Amino acid sequence: MKYRSTRGQAPLVSADQALRAGVAPDGGLYLPETLPHFGAEDFAADHDPGALAHRLLAPFFAESPLADSLAGICASAFDFPVPLVTPDPAEPGLQVLELFHGPTGAFKDFGARFLFRAFDAIARADDPITVLAATSGDTGGAVGCAAEGGRHARAVILFPEGRISAFQERQLCCWRAPVTALRVSDDFDACQRLVKAAFADPVLSTRHGLSSANSISIGRLLPQMTYWARASLEVFNRTGTRPGLIVPTGNLGNGFAALLARACGLPIGPVVLATNANATLSDWHASGQYTARQSIATLANAMDVGAPSNFERLSGFGVDLVEDVVRVDDAAIRQRIRSTHAGSGYIACPHTATALEAYARLTPEQRAGRVWIAAATAHPYKFADAVEPLIGQTLAPPPSLADVLQRPIEVTDIAASLGELAAQLDAGRAG
Ligand SMILES: *Cc1c(COP(=O)(O)O)cnc(C)c1O
Repeated sequence: MKYRSTRGQAPLVSADQALRAGVAPDGGLYLPETLPHFGAEDFAADHDPGALAHRLLAPFFAESPLADSLAGICASAFDFPVPLVTPDPAEPGLQVLELFHGPTGAFKDFGARFLFRAFDAIARADDPITVLAATSGDTGGAVGCAAEGGRHARAVILFPEGRISAFQERQLCCWRAPVTALRVSDDFDACQRLVKAAFADPVLSTRHGLSSANSISIGRLLPQMTYWARASLEVFNRTGTRPGLIVPTGNLGNGFAALLARACGLPIGPVVLATNANATLSDWHASGQYTARQSIATLANAMDVGAPSNFERLSGFGVDLVEDVVRVDDAAIRQRIRSTHAGSGYIACPHTATALEAYARLTPEQRAGRVWIAAATAHPYKFADAVEPLIGQTLAPPPSLADVLQRPIEVTDIAASLGELAAQLDAGRAG
């Protein structure tokens, strides 16, 4: 399998090269040159998550150095439960796919764990990989956690001092080697500029094998197909009908993964995207015109995106690929968290609430005759400040997040200067 750039001005590369590069040299995003085609019968009913992932992803890694290690990578990356639950027994047509039972309580664990295990299989002591990530949210925690204990692929995480919550800071600074957390005495934009400057420095970039783990990496996108595949097969084998999917999304990572799984022949019916108040995707769907805008801050802040970077992957396909884009503002998110809890006791995070609201807005015709699967992307505890007042109770952390609260933290303070970042990169490598 070869990968091409969405902009068509870069050479074809193998899977491991696409993973290492992140972005193609022409500035485009990598896409598989062809897609494998599966039928439901290709997946025996008893496949566990790791085995199913291996079967689905094997064609994407054919003829790459990762082909032989792929089964082991999948087994160790997807070793946590991914339950499909019925939040309200009175509404059996709505199932929720809980993607937050990984070690950092959000669905970013799927992509990050797969990517780091793949990086660790590609990297060598004399050809290291250093993932450099500027983060303000869920990604950094998932990256640090996924990198812990690796041999040749390490993570260096930069975050802005005083701009993230105490729990988020903890979740960035609690991971052991080869993970380094750097607290930068500046804002998030300065962290991003620093990362860009490091990538642009050929000496630093080569010496440390700098790579990225952002959501445009094909190494994060491909593994996200696996839970959509598994859940759709489960429903299809039970009901004989392709389920509809409702995907809370901002950057289109999760949304594009669902569409890609369907394009590979998985039994998936209509795909509905749920967004927060950021209107770029809903306007595109309504008008056929794509206009990027400034992002606005919402309760579902992991989806606060005004210019979805994965849109470039979707644009070749056209609007009719997506059944609908449902835009859910903060008032509707609050109301949905309240009413869901009052109706069934189910507790949703703000991102999950956008999907539940999108389900509630389906027409009776859209609902009839098929099961809909809505993704739950974060454990509500991660958004306790927003959720607790709405449901009138305090939330307890799940075991994985309680563990984060127990761990010792380690962090190094730096100024927003390339010299200081370079010194930290060198120090980490020596140690
Ligand atoms: C990252 C994230 C999303 C959105 O992911 P996309 O890549 O934009 O699809 C949704 N919910 C949570 C909790 C997230 O962390």
